[in-house]
This record gives sequence, C-alpha cells and structure tokens, in this order.
Amino acid sequence: MERHIETKCVRSGYTPANGEPRQLPIVQSTTFKYDSSERVASLMRLEDEGYFYTRLANPTNDAVAQRICDLEGGTAAILTSTGMAATFLAVFNIVSAGDHIVSSSTIYGGSYNLFSVTMKRMGIDVTFVHPHCSDEELEAAFQPNTKVVFGESLSNPTLIVLDIERFAKAAHDHGVPLIVDNTFPTPINCRPIEWGADIVTHSTSKYMDGHATAMGGAIVDSGNFDWTAYPEKYACLCEPDPSYNGIVYTDQFGLEGAYINKIAAQLMRDLGPVPSPQNSFYIGLGLESLHLRMARHCENALAVAKHLKAHPKVEWVSYCGLEDDPGYELAQKYMPNGSCGVVSFGVKGGKEAAKRFMDSVKLASIMIHVADAKTMCLHPASTTHGQMTDEELIEAGVMPEMVRFSCGIESIEDIIADIDQALKQA
Ligand SMILES: *Cc1c(COP(=O)(O)O)cnc(C)c1O
Repeated sequence: MERHIETKCVRSGYTPANGEPRQLPIVQSTTFKYDSSERVASLMRLEDEGYFYTRLANPTNDAVAQRICDLEGGTAAILTSTGMAATFLAVFNIVSAGDHIVSSSTIYGGSYNLFSVTMKRMGIDVTFVHPHCSDEELEAAFQPNTKVVFGESLSNPTLIVLDIERFAKAAHDHGVPLIVDNTFPTPINCRPIEWGADIVTHSTSKYMDGHATAMGGAIVDSGNFDWTAYPEKYACLCEPDPSYNGIVYTDQFGLEGAYINKIAAQLMRDLGPVPSPQNSFYIGLGLESLHLRMARHCENALAVAKHLKAHPKVEWVSYCGLEDDPGYELAQKYMPNGSCGVVSFGVKGGKEAAKRFMDSVKLASIMIHVADAKTMCLHPASTTHGQMTDEELIEAGVMPEMVRFSCGIESIEDIIADIDQALKQA
C-alpha cells in the first residue's frame, strides 16, 4: 500500500537495518574508500552503484533527497546547496546558449534575476508571462527554441496560484516540460506532479527545514517527460555526453532517472553546488514534522488574514485562503487543505506607513527570510526586490506598501496582538 504523506514525512528515505542507528547518520566524509582501482573506475563510469565523492553523491544527501522525492511523488531527486542552485540546475540541465525559457513573471526575486540577467549573459533568453495571462498571450510567449516552462505553484511574495494544469498543457503542446517551484505550499499542501508538472524544485531553506537552520534546495523529476520523443531538442539527454565517456543518459537511466543523473554526473561535477551532509541532516529532521507545522502555519495565516481584512489601517490583504481572494478558486483546486503561512497585505499610507509598521513589530522579527517556525515580516519593495525597477516591481505584483507577513507556529493570540500594536504605530 502507498503510504500516506504524514508517514512519508517521518519514514521515507531511510530504513535502518537490524542494529543500525534509528536516526539518519550524517556521513560527513568527502570521499569513500575502496580496495581496487578497477572498482573506483567502474563507479566513475557510472556502471556500478556506490559512493566515491560527495560532490557527486553522498548517503545522507541521497536519503533526504529520496524523502522529498517520495513526498512529491517523483522517480528521482537530488539536493542542492541552496534553492537558487536548484532553480539554476533544474533549468540549465536542459537549456544552452541560444535557447529560450518561458517563465511566469510572478516568481521569487532571485529566480527573476537569474533568468532576466544572469542567464541572459549565458545567451539564454526568457519571456515572462503573468500567470493570469490570456491563452493567446501564453501561446505567443513560445518560440521555436523554447526548451522549458517555469513557474511557482504559489508565488513568493505575491502569493499568486499557478494554474498548473493550464501551464503544463501549454508546455506539453509545445513539446517542452514544465518546472514548478513548490517551495511555498510544500508537498504537504500541493503536489504539482499530480497536475502535470514534470519537474519540481524547492528551496528547502523554507518550510522543509522549518527552523531557519540550513540552506538547501531540491530537484525532483516525475519521470513523465519523454525526452526521447524530441531527441534533437534534448540531445543533451538523448545523445552521447562527450564529457562523460559518451554516456547516453536516457539509455543508461531510463526516463525515470536520466534528468536527475545528468544533473549529478555533469552539472554537480562541473559547477559543484552540493549541500553539506550536515545541512541535509537538518532538512531531513525538519521534514519529520513538516505535516504538523504546515497545518498550524495555515491555520494561523488564515486567522491573521481574516483579522487584517477587517482592520481599518489595512488597505488590502492577499491570502488565497480568503473566500473573496482572486486566488481562492485555484487554491481550492490545487491546495485544498491550505496554502502556506505567508500573508501579504498593504498598510494604509503607502511605503512610509509600511516601514513604520515594520519598525513597530515586537514578536515578529524583521528578516530576509520567510516560512519558518517563528513569525517574521519583510518589506519586499526595499529588500528582496530592491534591485527591480518600479516597472518590474508592478509587473511582479510587488506594491510599495506591501508587507510580507510569515506566520509562525506561535499562539495566534500573541501574533494578532503584535500586529494590532504595530498597526497602531503605522
Ligand atoms: C527562497 C526561495 C528560493 C531561493 O532559495 P534559497 O534557498 O534562498 O537559495 C527560490 N524560490 C522560492 C519560491 C523561494 O521562496
């Protein structure tokens, strides 16, 4: 029987044998010892299974990757040093200079910069489309050299729900995969693969870690996208890799493993953003309570959103758990048990009032972080999205008066009391 998600949080990825440690061991070792150089050679040729160098694979990292893979319902997964590394590797694994990406415009500020500036410098072009664009606009975004579509299931910080089925269909109609960054809802609340997404990415630095302890990222492949149906477009997966003894990833690992094994063997080898096993251990520990924490985050966030909605000093509230929120219907479809603990709202009085609110909170901490056990808040227009022009800010839905409020798992009474006293000062 397929285990329930709560059980997967606690048990997937590591099953100790008789007499082995109950908790996942931290294999804090760069390398692994062998008795014959022939064995090492066959490991390096990927002909044999076994560990040889932590940059390419490590048992602690693999166990936690397997847990996230199970949670998302994928066939293979890999951890990365940060969420940004996950986004970059997930996309760069299948695009090269001269290629093109279609991306939702409402994505994490770092990802927006990655696509619009840094990858542009690599000769990779991007077209941004708003998740609520018309079918014609979505269609028009594609080019003959488009290789991938990217979006966030629930966008940070604008909390817009991606119509995953619609974007998956558009991607598949053009013979390209859909990558969904599922950081905010986590697989507890949304599993994009069930709706047609081909690849899922995470910043595990957020809810998965959950305690602001360890940076990390994850990439999960559904194994569903048939690269071999487009052997020219995805020659990097279907043709021999000259940098790896002419290995053909789809032949060697099948559709279920080609994409992730290419990331490990080629991109991790050459670029190197591997997580420390110690950090992976923290992520694994965080995952054990993810299902409990997400439920409380969502309960607190809904109560905060309702309270803010009725508050005279609040201009607007964005939380897709509110029935009159534009995202409510899509959220009910893709994340019916709750979305996440983050609520955005506009303080009446614009940017200055938002700043006064920020300076007055006592329980909530001002942090460039989001989505962990402690309540915190942020003013995106002057921080995470500070590099963007006013035009780009509005395109990305980041208003000057907007506060991103990340509800922790403290008492809801204490959180609301803090909001009330800070709004008084605003
Ligand atoms: C934080 C975040 C990232 C980047 O992750 P890091 O771990 O900070 O590198 C990417 N996507 C989303 C949605 C995020 O919230």
